[in-house]
Amino acid sequence: MNFKNYVVLIVTFLLITFSIGSSVLNYMKSLNETQEELKERSLPLSIDNIYTEVQRNLIEPTLVSSMMANDTFLKDWIIHDESKTNKIARYLESIKNRHNVFSTFLVSQKTGNYYTSKGLLEKIKEENPNNEWYFKFRDIQDNYEINLDFNKYLGDSLIMFINYKIFDDNFHYLGATGIGIKISYIDDMLKHFRLKYNFNVFFTDKDGNIVLSEQENNDIGKARNIKDLNLDKASLIENSKVIEYKKNGKAYILNTKYIKELKLYLFVEAELDKFTKELEKTFYTNLLISLLITAIIIMIILYTIRTYNKKLENLASYDSLTHLPNRRNFNEYFEKSLKLFKRDNIPRSVIFFDIDNFKMINDNYGHLVGDNVLKRIAVILNLQIRDCDTISRWGGEEFLILLNDSNVEQSFQVAQKIRASFEDDLELSNLVKGSVTASFGVATFRKDDTIEKVISRADHALYAAKNSGKNKVEKEV
Ligand code: GH3
Ligand code: MG
Ligand code: MG
Repeated sequence: MNFKNYVVLIVTFLLITFSIGSSVLNYMKSLNETQEELKERSLPLSIDNIYTEVQRNLIEPTLVSSMMANDTFLKDWIIHDESKTNKIARYLESIKNRHNVFSTFLVSQKTGNYYTSKGLLEKIKEENPNNEWYFKFRDIQDNYEINLDFNKYLGDSLIMFINYKIFDDNFHYLGATGIGIKISYIDDMLKHFRLKYNFNVFFTDKDGNIVLSEQENNDIGKARNIKDLNLDKASLIENSKVIEYKKNGKAYILNTKYIKELKLYLFVEAELDKFTKELEKTFYTNLLISLLITAIIIMIILYTIRTYNKKLENLASYDSLTHLPNRRNFNEYFEKSLKLFKRDNIPRSVIFFDIDNFKMINDNYGHLVGDNVLKRIAVILNLQIRDCDTISRWGGEEFLILLNDSNVEQSFQVAQKIRASFEDDLELSNLVKGSVTASFGVATFRKDDTIEKVISRADHALYAAKNSGKNKVEKEV
């Protein structure tokens, strides 16, 4: 392998390595950044937003329920007036309307009656599973609870009950009251987070059962069981926590928070693929572009090297002023011709000529005109000489022509023709305000010739032409 190819190969290798390397590094960096962004910002921020939203939506209903539980009328009614059902129905109705809630209720511990704004609904019984909530609530330490009723879907929204305990002035338990509100806003919120951020948001109870999720999004709850995550419940409480896990070959990042008001765990989950798909596309596009650029650079390098090489070759073999072959180039050809001559004996001759009084042309009209004379001479020579013959600028204002298949007489005629064409050339005359002439020496190849010998004979003839008055052609002796 030559040096040029070796260099191109190394440059190609370096560029491709660099292209692939930088694309891969960029991709890895973006991947990392995306994961970090999800873990450090997007998921925790969403958790906080949802948490704030939930809390904001809980404040008013909690206040209303608390106000009911502390209402003197309500307490007096339970203690003294429970038989007057229409009074409490009116009370519950007015609260329901004033706060525009889904339902208001009251349960009397003494009679076990469950009242709503429509009056007495039922008698609470321990053995009725629908009434289980009441007995559970009665027995807890806290004075209130928020209870999501998952069994009773009413319309298309869940109902959240805010239950408050009622006590008399001596802190004797009288019953429970509160309101029920539709929590369709939660569904809207979950949908919003899925559509806008590609996050799955859901709530689980303490046992890990998904109890609240977006109703349209079937991915959740059915496809997965959150228990598989082996969550450390203790660590989930209070603090937000980021968990990474894989399920069915898909990677997820999960952020959780315990919402004590709802006694539920809030989960915000991102499927990593959905966030990295774009990055993957960018990676392949980047890779393609950088490989394309590499290919273009390599092509430019190859092209430059080739042009440069050609220029160098040209410079080494051709005269830059006349574009004729130089002496070095000519010598190679000359050598071959001489060898061929010794085999085939076909006559070959050289014409050696030197422009007359060229120094004077330079002195009188300047070097630039001198150069233009030399250029014009080359043009005339190319017109006069056959394709099979070779012309060379031997040096300065000396030229050498090798004529194939020409004996000394034929070459003499050619030289005469060239001489006349210089003398008669209008362009040359215009350049020097008179004729440009040259003196010629002609010599033909001999059996025992060397280049030096034949040129020497031509040079002698040229010298004779100069001596005999210039603008002449002389044959070798
Ligand atoms: P003679 O008739 O005896 O040949 O006289 P001459 O003046 O032509 O001969 P001489 O060898 O003294 O001068 C040749 C001149 O050609 C000298 C040199 O400066 C000039 N010359 C050589 N190469 C170039 C060239 O490339 N451009 C120009 N303008 N002049 C050149
Ligand atoms: Mg000369
Ligand atoms: Mg001369």
